[in-house]
Amino acid sequence: MVNKIVRILIVFSLVLGINGCKGLETSSQSTVEALTSNTSRLGSIYQTDSDQESKPAFESVLKESREPWNKSSNSQDLRDLPDLPGLLIRQPIPILYYHSVMLEAENEVRMPPDQFEAQMDFLCDNGYQSITLNQLYRAFYQGASLPPKPFVITFDDGYLDNYTTAFPILRRYGFTATVFMVSSYIGGEDFLSWPQLKELVASGWEIEGHTDTHPYLSKIDEITLLHELKSSKELLELGLGKTVDFLAYPYGDFDSAVLQAVRDTGYLMAFTTERGWANPNSDARQIQRIYCYANMGQNEFSRRLQNWNY
Ligand SMILES: [Zn+2]
Repeated sequence: MVNKIVRILIVFSLVLGINGCKGLETSSQSTVEALTSNTSRLGSIYQTDSDQESKPAFESVLKESREPWNKSSNSQDLRDLPDLPGLLIRQPIPILYYHSVMLEAENEVRMPPDQFEAQMDFLCDNGYQSITLNQLYRAFYQGASLPPKPFVITFDDGYLDNYTTAFPILRRYGFTATVFMVSSYIGGEDFLSWPQLKELVASGWEIEGHTDTHPYLSKIDEITLLHELKSSKELLELGLGKTVDFLAYPYGDFDSAVLQAVRDTGYLMAFTTERGWANPNSDARQIQRIYCYANMGQNEFSRRLQNWNY
């Protein structure tokens, strides 16, 4: 009994130390990332399984805290890893999508850094906890646990400022994110390079597919369509040593042939630009997201986080 109490106290001290949102930066980044990703799970354990014997879950969490949860994005891992006991997530989850985070007047896809930071501040202050798409997938389709108020941050295209500007801000809040990278843009001016992508992955970010050249997928022939989906997936997998399981449609454009091609090339989930929260009852290849644009204002931002069908 005493041992149990001590263990619980240790867990809560970890949670409290990490959930302070700000002041997160320490010299041991990988430890912070690992613990941060597992803080989510600690939250779920104590939220949903308070009556259960905590020892197995506790040990499982500690073991995993040495290895970031995010690192197992291999699709085989996704299917095979055992899940902690918890609430089956059958409710919608907000996925934010951004492009660039920089100041440029009258360009709504470039979110000014101060607005971006204010949004992260809002999320932190209101108890939202960032999860990965990997976690969302496992929660939706495998019954894995999630923390209270989960949300996902995604960036489309792979702008350089995702690394130079957004990454340091998100790190301060203990948030992670996913970049949907256009593979032919890698290393280009104003876009992410391989070393930057690798550093993001090492910090718990996910790099996922956004085709090779960013075409309207419904407007290209079948061979080109398969090439766009497959070559970009393989290039990212080869370069980053991880499977690429998720795709965002360029311009949100798809039709039934695109959906079939996405399935055939092995993507587990695909994301649209249609408004709404990600819904476990939707087609896994038509998952909705929340568009975040410059000057949307804090009221509109928070409004989109209040209602899954905003
Ligand atoms: Zn795009």
